[in-house]
Amino acid sequence: MPVEEPAKIRKLAGSCQCGSVTYEVADAFVFAVNCHCSLCRRATGAAFKPLAGIERDKLHITNGADKIQIFDAGSWHDERCKACGSFLFAVVRNGAFAHVAMGTLVDTPSIRPSAHVFVGSKAPWFDITDDLPQYDEGIIVKEN
Ligand SMILES: [Zn+2]
Ligand SMILES: [Zn+2]
Repeated sequence: MPVEEPAKIRKLAGSCQCGSVTYEVADAFVFAVNCHCSLCRRATGAAFKPLAGIERDKLHITNGADKIQIFDAGSWHDERCKACGSFLFAVVRNGAFAHVAMGTLVDTPSIRPSAHVFVGSKAPWFDITDDLPQYDEGIIVKEN
């Protein structure tokens, strides 16, 4: 591993599956969790969604802004690539905060998911086999 300059915040690249939409985000995530709620499961088609939270203004679309499809759910919305459907991130807290779907990161962030949240509604066919703390509901995720 190369030594990072502590004063400089790295920029991480992200992309949808087809590459139409790319983004850049500061490697300065405030938290990261694996969310097992039914919305995250259906949005991704996966057992849970690893997501990392950051201020929305630290995330920039670098290409394909016109290819973004917004799914508006009222107090928050999801942004996907129109062409391939990749779930890129959710925008929450009235636009102030983004929950980046970690699977769309091209570069490796410093942060790792530190907990499982909404385990109370997790898929019964999926067993959590790691030692991370589990919460039946959210901790700081899915805020309005
Ligand atoms: Zn795409
Ligand atoms: Zn969720």
